Amino acid sequence: MNAPATLQDVRPDPHAAGPDLLAWPLIRTLIAFDTTSRDSNLALIDWVRNLLAGHGIESALTFDDDRRKANLFATLPARDGNRTTGGVVLSGHTDVVPVDGQDWDTPPFEAVQIGDKVYGRGVTDMKSFAATALAFVPEFLCRGLARPVHFALSYDEEIGCIGVHRLIADVVQRGLHPQGCIVGEPTGMELVVAHKGKKSWRCRVRGHEAHSSLTPQGVNAVEIACEIITYLTNVARSFRDRGTQDADYDVPFTTVHTGIIRGGTALNIVPRDCWFDFEIRHLPQDDPDAFFAGVKAHAECFLPAMRVVAADAGIEFEALSTLPGFDTHGESAIAALGRDCTGTQDGGKVSFGTEASLFHRAAIPTIICGPGHIAQAHQPNEWVSVDQLSRCETFMRRLADRVCAA
Ligand SMILES: [Zn+2]
Repeated sequence: MNAPATLQDVRPDPHAAGPDLLAWPLIRTLIAFDTTSRDSNLALIDWVRNLLAGHGIESALTFDDDRRKANLFATLPARDGNRTTGGVVLSGHTDVVPVDGQDWDTPPFEAVQIGDKVYGRGVTDMKSFAATALAFVPEFLCRGLARPVHFALSYDEEIGCIGVHRLIADVVQRGLHPQGCIVGEPTGMELVVAHKGKKSWRCRVRGHEAHSSLTPQGVNAVEIACEIITYLTNVARSFRDRGTQDADYDVPFTTVHTGIIRGGTALNIVPRDCWFDFEIRHLPQDDPDAFFAGVKAHAECFLPAMRVVAADAGIEFEALSTLPGFDTHGESAIAALGRDCTGTQDGGKVSFGTEASLFHRAAIPTIICGPGHIAQAHQPNEWVSVDQLSRCETFMRRLADRVCAA
């Protein structure tokens, strides 16, 4: 055996054999579509639609306003023709986060196996789950289903679970009543029955420009933004040290974080504008609106002094996204199915938000279970282990045993 290649040594061969997995050709294909959220996902959606059409399965597409992006929903009917009642939704988002500015050692839009890992943008978050589910379509159809199996592929998950709203509305409007939904976000193939809620905002500080030798004649927007961010950091510490704790979560308390800040134009100009984005990921017991009221009240303390210098100075907040939390009871049929298919007894809770809460809110009980780990998501050199992919196939095989007629 050769020593394992380092990433830098690899020259990926598009025809290279991959791991011995039923889903490997589909994983390679889905990764090869650059579906960064800002771009269209229609090429991928068309490809999946054609794949399903080849099996006689029709897909329903729901588009964004510009018809640049679409969700796909498709139903494999039960052998008795039932396509509306019961059964399970296998759900995943098609978009991926950007690779801009990240240092990749392999081409990001190519699934490349090196040793016991597969690299590529989306291999863990989360095209491998969808690929594995689609790889079982021939088996589902050939064995015949006792209850329907639905496929739900969404757009614009990574920018705030935007696309799936239309998919779910369409499902509800068409009178479909799935028994439950499995969202294949990366959980290490462990069963997850709850996640935190999330809200995010943009704060815009408008100050007043001045030559930097005359700072008292200006209002420094960067510095005021930093004061508000420091407040956020302190709130985060108090959630950590004195807030509600739920040990079932990987991070057992509510978290607050600032992710982007932009401000200023040159060192010798007192900056007029600065904006930053922040979020809260909260336990069900903590109220995100009360948190936000506190942020606003703190920001307003700065206004009088700012307006002494410049009447048009101000601080504005814009809500960016809201994602409720969810908690599926262990006794629900979908949680029981999840336990059967993972071979585990417990359901965990996670801190990252997913589309699961939106299905849950539409009265479709939902669990999360998918290959890979969230720690590898959104990273350069995103990877998933071959073992995780084969555990996903085992999961799908057990699912087939439970949804197929014979
Ligand atoms: Zn994801």
